[in-house]
Amino acid sequence: MTKVLTLQSHPLDRSRVVAVYTGRRGCMCGCNGEYHYTGASRAEASKRRGYEVRDEEVDEIEVARVIDEVLAADTSVEVIEGLGEMIYYVDHLWGRCAAVYVKLPPPQGVAS
Ligand SMILES: [Zn+2]
Repeated sequence: MTKVLTLQSHPLDRSRVVAVYTGRRGCMCGCNGEYHYTGASRAEASKRRGYEVRDEEVDEIEVARVIDEVLAADTSVEVIEGLGEMIYYVDHLWGRCAAVYVKLPPPQGVAS
């Protein structure tokens, strides 16, 4: 059973955003669109994807813009719980999609 999560039940925590994606609907490997990262998430994002985030992929303004785009979609946002992260995904009617990847806080009771 997949739990249905919403933006209302799981608010997006901007301070924990690791990456954003925008592109045409479909494959999200990067052939259809682009990922952008924040300076703060760069080291972690490089580890997560297995190769270095390049300078031109770090873009705070684009990250903020995509977060706003996703938040504006409100009730049509799909919230997906992944491995250690929440994904906020919007499928726009005009054939494009946007996603925000948010790192989950460490489990309660675990010292970090
Ligand atoms: Zn692809």
